[in-house]
Amino acid sequence: MKVIRRTKHLRQELGRARRRPRTIGFVPTMGALHDGHLALVRRSRRENDLTVVSVFVNPTQFGPREDFRSYPRTFKKDVLLAKKEKVDIIFHPSIKEIYPRGYLTDIEVREISDRLCGRSRPGHFRGVATVVGKLLNIVDPDILYLGQKDAQQCVVLRHMVRDLDFPVKVTTVPTVREPGGLAMSSRNQYLSAVQRREAVVLYQALRTARKRIVAGERTAAPVLREMRRYIRKNSSGIIDYLVCVDGQTLRPLRVLRGEVLLALAVYFGKARLIDNIALTVK
Ligand code: AMP
Repeated sequence: MKVIRRTKHLRQELGRARRRPRTIGFVPTMGALHDGHLALVRRSRRENDLTVVSVFVNPTQFGPREDFRSYPRTFKKDVLLAKKEKVDIIFHPSIKEIYPRGYLTDIEVREISDRLCGRSRPGHFRGVATVVGKLLNIVDPDILYLGQKDAQQCVVLRHMVRDLDFPVKVTTVPTVREPGGLAMSSRNQYLSAVQRREAVVLYQALRTARKRIVAGERTAAPVLREMRRYIRKNSSGIIDYLVCVDGQTLRPLRVLRGEVLLALAVYFGKARLIDNIALTVK
């Protein structure tokens, strides 16, 4: 496995690899790798000849009062984990490498970036789209792997790839969860033991809602009411949003039909946890 820090060197390396008939799978991450990230890596390894993982804590996707400085950085451990998974290349650029002095260009996917997480994190998806757009230009992969855990991120990036004609296929990998159901996240490290126990209510609420919809419920309001009540009653979590939206447009649904995304963001202390379930309603 190679660790590369410079765009120029990565391009040289991949240029060599591309001369042979190979496909490249790409997994962008912010590091602090866990089994959720590794599920993406494994899928890429299965489906491609060469897998590139980027580890870059992207400053432009953090708001001024968010956790950019304290975000977990465990690069040595990440390298060991990646090696074990037979990742071919880790791209670990410096901030200056990605945003050189005088950097002025952003990618903005309008409207869908302002919904859900975009409301409490203005500019977040501009930062995400910009960095992933840059990384796609640098790595030029055949397949981009994204986690369903960040459902809005998937929707935004698929839109970007389509609108700007990035020559890449996007594959979404199901959410990997702890045994109790809590979605794995680098930010789970911020949770106290009590909060971690409580945080399982998020997936429980989502699952109960799905069951109710599968059983025939077609109106969003009672489903959302029940979820909200359940989370408030069984945890100290403060709900940021809890929505039932169209899986493509992310617009709120009153009647549940088609691609439905149940999504939520809940604060446990300083940790803001997100989770979702996507389902198709006939
Ligand atoms: P991050 O390092 O948090 O930016 O995540 C990098 C990639 O891993 C994103 O595509 C995430 O959606 C994905 N990911 C993070 N956690 C999980 C999880 N628990 N299950 C599946 N994918 C995940």
